[in-house]
Amino acid sequence: MEKWDLIIIGAGAAGLAAGIYGARSGLKTLILEEKMVGGTTADAPIIENYPGFESIRGTELAKKMAAHCRKTGVTIREFEKVVSLDLKGEKKTVKTSRATYEAKAIIIASGSHYRELGVPGEKEFRGRGVSYCGICDGPLFKGKRVLVIGGGNSAVITALYIAELASEVKIAHRREAFRAEEALVKALKEKSNVEILWNTELKEIKGEKIVNKAVLYNNKTKETTELSVDGVFVQVGEKPNSQLAEEAGVKVDEKGYIVIDIRQRTNIAGVYAAGDVTNHPVKQVGTAVGQGITAALEAYGYIRRPYYYKQ
Ligand SMILES: Cc1cc2nc3c(=O)[nH]c(=O)nc-3n(C[C@H](O)[C@H](O)[C@H](O)COP(=O)(O)OP(=O)(O)OC[C@H]3O[C@@H](n4cnc5c(N)ncnc54)[C@H](O)[C@@H]3O)c2cc1C
Repeated sequence: MEKWDLIIIGAGAAGLAAGIYGARSGLKTLILEEKMVGGTTADAPIIENYPGFESIRGTELAKKMAAHCRKTGVTIREFEKVVSLDLKGEKKTVKTSRATYEAKAIIIASGSHYRELGVPGEKEFRGRGVSYCGICDGPLFKGKRVLVIGGGNSAVITALYIAELASEVKIAHRREAFRAEEALVKALKEKSNVEILWNTELKEIKGEKIVNKAVLYNNKTKETTELSVDGVFVQVGEKPNSQLAEEAGVKVDEKGYIVIDIRQRTNIAGVYAAGDVTNHPVKQVGTAVGQGITAALEAYGYIRRPYYYKQ
């Protein structure tokens, strides 16, 4: 069995930042990634809010992070999915689709995935008018017509945010009332360029090269209509990739996010979590990087126990 000081699960922004700090601290560090390196950073068409880069394609930023990480001496194994974890003892065991590894400390940086609606056109136009992240892609729709789908806090917050940028925003919810907080709903109703479409379900997204229409179904009147739009923001929830960690005894909150303290520690000694998989309230590249850094330095302290390390 291969032995490592630190194993990181996931090569997104959090995992790659953790890798850089782990290796530079002298830890023998392995990152296991089920797909290609980059995580959701690579899914972002354009990133305009990561310090140092006024505007960079997500794939480009992810490539730079991975190259930097490899240069520090981290071993990254792509297309190797972690399938089970044994985290209870002092030595942690990580089983993948190819091998079994042992590590002194683990960082879980496995991210989350946005829930999709599964309607025709959604996959086809992802990144070409279909988005799952208002903060990230909202500015691309300045002066345009946007449709937001969902009825919870994230849908209403997204609609409020985009209403500051877009010429008109429609928010479609399949029920007759929002699940979102009252204050948010009140603020939304006060926006002159926002229209709420109750009892409305998105059935299809149409376009040429980019989105130009949404097919909507009113589940009360049973009517189907076509709406001309430039963008569709799907906000029907996120799901953290925390199932393996939870099965191994890591504490998660009611939504499945890994519960961490300010030092990225989980409830199990030697096990840390960073990025979108955690219950940290902000989910951005910058916050994932910061959490990854903290997790790696904590893992270093846990493994090497320098004189200044506090348990
Ligand atoms: C379309 C889009 C646009 C965005 N735009 C921006 C933006 O402009 N600015 C910004 O700051 N943020 C943006 N974000 C958010 C940002 O991308 C994320 O907050 C950040 O990348 C999260 O990084 P992470 O490392 O925590 O998770 P991820 O990037 O999701 O990385 C997790 C990695 O873990 C891997 N993994 C999961 N399970 C396993 C397993 N069992 N075994 C091995 N590997 C596993 C996954 O394959 C993935 O590569 C955007 C997100 C999306 C989806």
